[in-house]
Amino acid sequence: MNEQKPDWLKIRVSYSPKINEVSEMLKALNLHTVCQEANCPNAMECFGKRTATFMILGRECTRQCTFCNVSKGHPMLVDEDEPARVAKAAAELDLKHVVVTSVTRDDLPDGGAGHFARVIEEVKKTSPATAIEVLIPDFEGDKEALAVVAAAKPQVINHNIETVKRLYPSVRPIADYDRSLELIQRVKELDPSIYSKSGLMVGLGETPDEVEELLKDLRKSDCDIVTIGQYLAPSALHHPVVEYVTPEQFEKYKLLAEGMGFRHVASSPLVRSSYHAGEAFSNDSI
Ligand code: SF4
Ligand code: SF4
Repeated sequence: MNEQKPDWLKIRVSYSPKINEVSEMLKALNLHTVCQEANCPNAMECFGKRTATFMILGRECTRQCTFCNVSKGHPMLVDEDEPARVAKAAAELDLKHVVVTSVTRDDLPDGGAGHFARVIEEVKKTSPATAIEVLIPDFEGDKEALAVVAAAKPQVINHNIETVKRLYPSVRPIADYDRSLELIQRVKELDPSIYSKSGLMVGLGETPDEVEELLKDLRKSDCDIVTIGQYLAPSALHHPVVEYVTPEQFEKYKLLAEGMGFRHVASSPLVRSSYHAGEAFSNDSI
């Protein structure tokens, strides 16, 4: 699709010295955030709301998703000191909501689950009032690995389903739709007090009926929170944008999902998995 981006996707990125300040601090701690590395246009707003998304376990992914800009290659050794540094950054930035994600590490026996758990534990030690959301890979369906993360008791376990089942072979060739649903289902079975969350991108060639099926599948899997945003291709080498979904259609998806009983739905063109992450349960006592 060669069409120009529609107006609703054109955003003005505001600059603030706060970004530099945060960048310097994270650089000194040798930490990476999705906010900075993806040049996320929401960074000012999120930092202002004291939310950030840390990327742990290196920058090389063992999967080959065709929509994703993360490097695919030889994964790095696990940095054992990283959990303490994430905790230090969360405390120094006085974060209210921390999102922790990683590349997929199929090379590690536990898929990195133990490392996720250590990050959760360290952040809890230094910032007990901070809410922690982990955005995890599928751990290749390893139930034990998921149990390790759940036992560390983050407030939210998020695993993105990303797209409809029919498009998996072309969009997420090494992933499995049903395996991802099973993981989401298992979150509530392991610990009903943890919020389960998932997200999808639209504009990859799916139909509204397929999105409805996917939302039904997520609800059947006891998913509490869902995010729906527009897919934007990182480059011409990535999966093409097949459609720019209109804001009206996003609103329809939102109403549809709310009608199915999701606890919180974020659906609009610029929604990202971690955008306004704290709002989904800000009125709850957790
Ligand atoms: Fe960071 Fe997510 Fe906010 Fe973007 S939307 S700035 S990645 S927390
Ligand atoms: Fe990107 Fe995640 Fe796919 Fe790896 S598994 S290529 S990080 S979307």
